[in-house]
Amino acid sequence: MAGKEDYYQALGVNRKATAVEIRKAYRRLARKYHPDVNPKDKKAEEQFRKIAEAYDVLSDAKKRQMYDRFGFYSESGPPPEAAHAGRGRPVDFAGFDFSEVGEQEAGIGGFRDLFSQFFRRGEPQPTSQPERGSDLEYEVNVGFWEAIRGTTVKLTVSHLDACRTCRGTGSTGRDKTCPACNGAGSSNKGMSTMRFTIPCEMCRGKGRIVDACVACRGDGRRAETESLEMRIPAGIQNGGRVRVQGKGNAGKHGGSIGDLYLVIRVAPHPFFERQGDDIYTKIPITVTEAAMGAKIEVPTIDQSRALLKIPPGTASGQKFRLREKGVMSLKTHKHGDQYVEAQVQVPKVVDERTKEILRELAALNPGDPRAELYRQL
Ligand SMILES: [Zn+2]
Ligand SMILES: [Zn+2]
Repeated sequence: MAGKEDYYQALGVNRKATAVEIRKAYRRLARKYHPDVNPKDKKAEEQFRKIAEAYDVLSDAKKRQMYDRFGFYSESGPPPEAAHAGRGRPVDFAGFDFSEVGEQEAGIGGFRDLFSQFFRRGEPQPTSQPERGSDLEYEVNVGFWEAIRGTTVKLTVSHLDACRTCRGTGSTGRDKTCPACNGAGSSNKGMSTMRFTIPCEMCRGKGRIVDACVACRGDGRRAETESLEMRIPAGIQNGGRVRVQGKGNAGKHGGSIGDLYLVIRVAPHPFFERQGDDIYTKIPITVTEAAMGAKIEVPTIDQSRALLKIPPGTASGQKFRLREKGVMSLKTHKHGDQYVEAQVQVPKVVDERTKEILRELAALNPGDPRAELYRQL
């Protein structure tokens, strides 16, 4: 019965005993009553159990305080549940290494740790905290124009859904005998003389476990495939992500559903090169256009043509900007720009008349284009 155990008496110390005195008393008694020293002695065994239990409580400041106040210690907290407060399952003794039970401090840690695990009585089962389902990521390929104008994609995704059999609970709603300990609630660990009994890890000493749902093996979720049709907004960039809320994996224990992310891969275009919201193009121009200037038509992504003024003396590789002829930004809804690089095309001269004109051109413009370069070197 709870409260009847006098832990101070069990260790032979008074109620004002210090932690050191308690430890010394325990070591002395543990050596005396240890079952390895008293084989098949039921009385010694019981005595050992008592002192181990007493030491577990009195060596812990918090437990000792509670014991001093209420006359007993319980993991489940202070009264009024007196009936609950005594010892729950029988506590077994530990086979411990006597070399560690000397007076030296070094052995204390391991020794204490060894025992502490025997006294986790009445420990509540792990509470099933709601756990949000994980997010999923799918790569989606879209065409160049689809990315600019927006599109819808059909996709079959595989995600964890709440199990229909158990409605996501993971259990049948019943419990069953723990298969690990056959309902005993404890298991034997160790070998030869180092044998001790600890609470069964599977059922946490209860002897019974929740009967898991067969369909989802207790997870509460099952892999399902779902066909989805999703809108890809106009202006999406290569590598851009589209969030589809609530289409990730289902949560556990009532946790919310994760999201699905579509990672967009945009196909390239042979003429329009896209960099962010800007478009880069290369336009061939003639030597005459480059030299004398011209107004040329440049294809744009709005399927029309923009008029570009090439100034006289344009060099090959020179870039021009067509304002707001780029892609409409997904975020700002403003258009990017289009950059046009002029590429001067030199004619392949075969006829005599053209050669004659070019020689005349050279005679009229005798400057050496490399003169400036030579000066610098
Ligand atoms: Zn289920
Ligand atoms: Zn068990």
